[in-house]
Amino acid sequence: MAEVVQLKNVAKFYHTPEGETEALKDISFSVCENEFVSVIGPSGCGKSTVLSIIAGLEKPSGGNVKINGSGTVGYMLQQDHLFPWLTVMENALLGLKIRREENKNSKKHVDDLLRQYGLYSFKNAHPQELSGGMRQRAALIRTLAINPSVLLLDEPFSALDYQTRLAVSDDIYGIIKGQKKTAILVTHDISEAISMSDRIIVLSKRPARVKAIHKIELSGEQNPISRRKAPEFPAYFQMLWEELTNE
Ligand code: ADP
Ligand code: MG
Repeated sequence: MAEVVQLKNVAKFYHTPEGETEALKDISFSVCENEFVSVIGPSGCGKSTVLSIIAGLEKPSGGNVKINGSGTVGYMLQQDHLFPWLTVMENALLGLKIRREENKNSKKHVDDLLRQYGLYSFKNAHPQELSGGMRQRAALIRTLAINPSVLLLDEPFSALDYQTRLAVSDDIYGIIKGQKKTAILVTHDISEAISMSDRIIVLSKRPARVKAIHKIELSGEQNPISRRKAPEFPAYFQMLWEELTNE
């Protein structure tokens, strides 16, 4: 399958007045079209740095990154970053506006996405009128509007309470798969990673190296909530838990 994202021997040093931080040592991995890959690792090991480098927000100090296809990257964070003074529709169109790609076609695409994912009747509402889950859905639609080759998700559910987090991760997963998008999720939640991913990349503690890459194969229905009940789930959890604990 076609590779959408390729990282080769990526290294990263941050230079600050306090000194130098080596965040990434030697990171190589690829992500294929339509694949959902999670990146897990100890807190502060460099997970967000990996995404920043893929997004082009930070430059690698060594190695290289390739994004194929349109090369556009969509980024979703823990805070949904919806603007409270804009309506849901205006928020959803914002990415297109910034890129000067607001036209009849792209507006119809956003219209269709809002309709398809149950936000159309809220298009004139403001974000504060929506539930946490609906806000994340609106943020995802804004990201999808620019038709990214790859979606980067940096702990997008961690601000939500547990019950909501399960429902929202199911919801967001359904939209990403329905739209046939390639996604990279950063999370510190092992169960979340197993429930959503085709593959999991385990990073070592800082400076991050790739410690292991696991293909996740779960039987039964393929939505995150059902996948948590798959018979293979506990063994994956145990293995990843041990890998992270030995860091
Ligand atoms: P994670 O997302 O795994 O918690 P990060 O990628 O955010 O880790 O951070 C990795 C290391 O790099 C940390 O030690 C952090 O303090 C440092 N770091 C992250 N961003 C910057 C920055 N912009 N400037 C300086 N140091 C940074
Ligand atoms: Mg982080």
